[in-house]
Amino acid sequence: MRPPVRALLQRPVRSWWKQERREHPRSQARKPLLLALLLLTAVLAWFMGRDLLVFAALVAVVLLVRAKVMLERRRQNLRQLQLEQKSSRRLRQTSHNLDAVLQQLGMPPDSFQRSEINFKVNQLASRMEWLLESARSLALLDSLTQLPNRRHFIEQVQIESARSKRSRKRFAVLFIDVDKFKAINDTYGHATGDRALVAVSQRLKDTIRAGDFLSRLGGDEFAVLMDLSAIKSNSEQTLKAHAHLFACRIMAMFEELANLGNVSIDIDISIGVNVVDPDSSDPEAILRQSDLAMDQAKSQQHARVAVFDVATAKGGYDDYQLYADLKDALRQGGFSMAFQPVVDKEQRLRGVEALARWRHPSRGFIGPDVFLDIAERYRMMRELGEHLFQLSLDGFLALDGALQQPGLRLSSNVSPSQLSDPQLQARLLGMLERTGVDPKRLTLEITEASILDRSATTEANLQALRAAGIELSLDDFGTGYSSLNLINTLQPNEIKIDRSFVLALHTDPYARQIVEVIAGMSTQMPLHLVAEGVEDEATFQALRKLGIQYFQGYLFSKPLPVAELAACYGAVIATGT
Ligand code: C2E
Ligand code: CA
Ligand code: CA
Repeated sequence: MRPPVRALLQRPVRSWWKQERREHPRSQARKPLLLALLLLTAVLAWFMGRDLLVFAALVAVVLLVRAKVMLERRRQNLRQLQLEQKSSRRLRQTSHNLDAVLQQLGMPPDSFQRSEINFKVNQLASRMEWLLESARSLALLDSLTQLPNRRHFIEQVQIESARSKRSRKRFAVLFIDVDKFKAINDTYGHATGDRALVAVSQRLKDTIRAGDFLSRLGGDEFAVLMDLSAIKSNSEQTLKAHAHLFACRIMAMFEELANLGNVSIDIDISIGVNVVDPDSSDPEAILRQSDLAMDQAKSQQHARVAVFDVATAKGGYDDYQLYADLKDALRQGGFSMAFQPVVDKEQRLRGVEALARWRHPSRGFIGPDVFLDIAERYRMMRELGEHLFQLSLDGFLALDGALQQPGLRLSSNVSPSQLSDPQLQARLLGMLERTGVDPKRLTLEITEASILDRSATTEANLQALRAAGIELSLDDFGTGYSSLNLINTLQPNEIKIDRSFVLALHTDPYARQIVEVIAGMSTQMPLHLVAEGVEDEATFQALRKLGIQYFQGYLFSKPLPVAELAACYGAVIATGT
């Protein structure tokens, strides 16, 4: 056994020297060196004489320094020894603890040999791992749906945004909220509410693709991190169209009633889509933007999916400010109309769609999706809609006069609140009459949401307009809940396949499938199909082959002011419209 440190430090140098030699026989090898040193000292003493004392003192200093170094090394060894003793005490203690834990786990320690300590450690280690994993799962998984929770989602968004910053590969965050979930809870009780959430999570799981990341953020809110890296295009529009299409696909999963054991209910959802800027790195901010888009989806009447737009997504004050500016623009004639050609299979002009434009005095161009939504929410859509319809008629009349093309048609969009206005048909027919546009040349484009809950007023409007010879078109077809059912109830003259399906025709098998189904179905019915959002020749040709009759999109022309459009067809408009 080695002596305690203090005793050792108190021992005289001589005995230490002896022990040193005993423990470190290597020093025996230094013997000839020491003899040579002594011999050298004697020779030097012979020659130096009086300086012998100084020399002896020097040798003594050297020896003392060496002794100190050796002593320090020795001290370190002892400290190491103490540590080892402490560790072995700990090991013994740990071994006892191991035995106790294994006993708790139902493995009596005596059933193991001492040599089986490794086995025990392994057992304990795997047990610990399991416990840690459970704790981690508890912290990252939602217990009701077993989906990753908000914390996990935020972590994932963080990882994705760092990756996106490096590689410029894009992703989108879809914020999904169950409509009127509180009412489900209140009506059927919390157990059914829970089952509804599990049903929602199952439908979402069935929709997401490999590479996407689904999470329950909490309550009735879910989120999907959508991988967009497979999309070759960097165009914001195209990425948004893909994300939008994916949201529509999720929507389609909610068409059927959900069977919740004791009751079957209709679960509706709203989705906010945010194609994440590759330079944004704050996951909370990214989620907030998606949430904002979801709020917009909830408030708009014509669709349950909204795509986040940085330029227009501002707080409530801005929203109100925009409404005030919208009113000014309405008073001062701040709106204009752009017209986009609708062409046939031979690219001959068949008609034009009137699309509203607003150039805000300080914020520049603001898209109709944004300002029409505000007009709906602040209840000025009826007034604005009428004004825009009058502008469409004026523009169309000018274009028709310039092009002199018999049979040229006008398509005009009608918002949901306009359709439920008892005055609508009288006003529209009055305007047509005053402007001199034949109602038979007019197609009114109606979105699914406008006619979902068909009130008697909506019904009367539709009947009267149809009786006057106006055709009806089902716009943005495929993006809503019950597109197919609506064909039966509305009996439209035309279906406009939503541009998100057309844009993704070559990249998304689901989009292609939907377009094929619509094309196949239309041959059985007295209606024609228009594909909007045709941007390239390959898509145009593919759609032609599928039997689509009419086309609209940037491939043929962007929406243009009437004078510019007339000029494209070699005509001149005398008075600017
Ligand atoms: P919408 O009826 O689906 O109109 C087609 C939209 O697709 C237009 O957007 C048009 O500019 C855009 N578009 C056309 N070709 C292409 C293409 O090849 N690629 C892509 N990516 N987009 C294309 P816009 O003008 O922003 O209009 C948005 C929506 O606002 C319209 O969607 C329509 O629902 C509504 N809207 C526009 N004008 C009016 C109006 O006067 N009254 C009403 N009630 N709604 C309107
Ligand atoms: Ca339209
Ligand atoms: Ca459309």
